[in-house]
Formats: sequence, C-alpha cells, structure tokens
Amino acid sequence: MEREIIATLSSFLADEPCLTARRNLPISSLTGIRIGGNAALTLSPRDGGCLIRLLDRLSRGSIPYRVIGNGTNLIGPDAGYPGILVLTAGIDRVALSGSTLVAGAGAPLGRVIRRAMEAGLSGLEELAGIPGTVGGALYMNAGAYGRETSDALRYATVYHPASGEVTVKTPSSLGFGYRKSAIGEEGLIVLSAAFSLLPDEPGRIAERMNAVTKKRRESQPTDRPSAGSVFRRPSPDVPVGRLIADAGCAGWTEGGAAVSEKHAGFIVNQGGATESDVRRLTDRVRERVKERMGVDLVPEIEFLSDLPAYPTAKY
Ligand SMILES: Cc1cc2nc3c(=O)[nH]c(=O)nc-3n(C[C@H](O)[C@H](O)[C@H](O)COP(=O)(O)OP(=O)(O)OC[C@H]3O[C@@H](n4cnc5c(N)ncnc54)[C@H](O)[C@@H]3O)c2cc1C
Repeated sequence: MEREIIATLSSFLADEPCLTARRNLPISSLTGIRIGGNAALTLSPRDGGCLIRLLDRLSRGSIPYRVIGNGTNLIGPDAGYPGILVLTAGIDRVALSGSTLVAGAGAPLGRVIRRAMEAGLSGLEELAGIPGTVGGALYMNAGAYGRETSDALRYATVYHPASGEVTVKTPSSLGFGYRKSAIGEEGLIVLSAAFSLLPDEPGRIAERMNAVTKKRRESQPTDRPSAGSVFRRPSPDVPVGRLIADAGCAGWTEGGAAVSEKHAGFIVNQGGATESDVRRLTDRVRERVKERMGVDLVPEIEFLSDLPAYPTAKY
C-alpha cells in the first residue's frame, strides 16, 4: 500500500518543491501527549496553494489521508499509521485587515491571539493557552472560560474532499455546538479562517490573557504531555475533572499513563505511555464514573486509529 501510494505520488512530489515528504516519522513527535508509532508518509505543504493542489491530487487519486494540526487533541496509534498524514504547520500566515484577522489553518492559536492583542483587537483572548491550530480549533469548536472559537468567526474557507470544491462558509452554515462542528461531522478541511474582532486596549487584552493562562497553570498539569481534557462536560455546569475526582479516579494509572492528581479530567503521559494504556485508563474512568456518579462520559480526545480517512473524490 505504502509503496503503491508513493509510486502514484512520485511525479507530483517531484513537481511540488513547496511540499516536504517524510517517511516513517514518529507520530509521538506530532502529538501533544507524545504517543504513537510511525506514520507511513507525512506531507507538509508550505503554503495554501500547495495544500489545495495536494488535497486535489489525493482526492482524485482516491488516496486516503488525514489532516493534522498541532496534534494536541490526538492519541497516535501504537502500531503507527499506514496511510498519509497531511501536516498543516506550514500554512501559518496571519494577516490583519482593519478589525478582521485572517489566519491559515496551521497557525497556532496562541500566535493568532498575541497578534490580535498587539493590534489592540479583542475577542479570542479567553482561548489563550489552548495549544492547537486554527484548523483544529474550528474542527471541534475549541473553547474555554465561556468563549468558543466560533464566537469570533466571520467566515472559514474550507475544502470538500468529496467534490474538490473550495467554499467560503459563514458560522451559521458550519453547525457549531459544544465541541462540535460540521467540519468534523462532514469531513471538511479548514484552509483558513477570518475572525471579526473588537478594538480594545492591548494592555487590557493582555491582562485577560494572563489571567486565563495563570488559571490554567494553577489548575491543569500543563508541565506534562497530555491531550487536554479527556472527556466533554456532561452539562455546562458540571466540571468534568471534579466529577472524575469525586468518583475516586485521580491518580489511577495504566502503564505510563495516569489520571492527573492536579486535574482529574486530564490523562498525562508520565513516560512511555502507549495508546493502549490511554484506552484502558479512559475505559476504566468511564465505567467508574457511570457506576458511582450515574453519568455516561463522552470522550473529547480522539484516537487517530478510530478516525476515518476523508472521503475521496467523486469528481
Ligand atoms: C494542555 C492542553 C490544554 C487544552 N485545553 C483545551 C481547552 O481549554 N479547550 C479546548 O477546547 N481544547 C483544549 N485542548 C485540546 C486541543 O488543544 C484543542 O482541541 C485544539 O483545538 C486541537 O487543535 P490541533 O491543531 O492540535 O488539532 P489536532 O489534534 O491536530 O487534530 C484534532 C482534530 O482536528 C482535525 N483537524 C486538524 N486540523 C484540521 C483542519 N485544518 N481542517 C479540518 N480538520 C482538522 C484532525 O484531523 C483531528 O480530527 C487542550 C489540549 C492540551 C494538550
């Protein structure tokens, strides 16, 4: 399979110097929790045009693939990934036009928020400290401290793998909800996003950013590799970490993975954790919370091996 794919792509790769191809890159180096065997092939386009040409080529060739941002919500497969991972890190342009900020899918959210703050533009600062990219943040409508990525979104430019179309979507057409969007549900790929921001004093924006970053440092195991909160909140007023701690799971371990004692909503990699360790621990926590608290937790983290590759072209 791998050989066949590379042979199919070889002339394309030779014609596209804007693309870096790597074989057998450890997925552990691509994920925040530092777990995962090797990816058969990773492709890293360096600009938006290159990304679109690549997606077109993959879709038309019926070659399965998955897009990865900063890997901060993902657990890599122990057995590695047999197909192609498209890495968006190079699509990181951030530009301002009046009070609209446009960012490439791979722009780190932290850099986007800082850039807005420096320009005296407010609207994203509660998201400071979320370690993902713009594409990953829209995919699951990342949020924190009462704010969601979609709140400030003006439009997103997306690629439809099944048709090869590039369209501009308004927030109302993207089905945003709590940690969900049509991007995830329909398998769309974010190319870039534009945010509508409001003028404010940079000093006041920075204060709000610092306040949420301090709260994170005090309440979350930010010094340990993790994939963030493992489960969604069962309802807006129920902090999931508290629920898991009350069920008695804080400090539980499986291999190198542990339920954080600082914030029981996080599973941290204490060294050498595997995908199977995280799966076992996640299952144990779910069972215990169901049994003791009567709540059925839904995972927020994603296991790369459970995710479908994008549908390929019918065009
Ligand atoms: C310490 C820590 C704290 C965190 N705190 C929060 C928090 O407060 N709130 C919160 O919501 N999350 C939080 N997270 C989780 C995570 O950072 C967010 O979900 C983030 O939005 C993921 O972005 P990413 O670029 O890392 O996505 P990835 O992990 O790379 O990918 C996640 C999913 O998005 C898809 N995806 C990535 N890029 C694109 C694209 N361009 N187009 C379409 N799909 C794409 C991937 O295929 C995958 O299915 C935290 C994580 C950590 C490690």
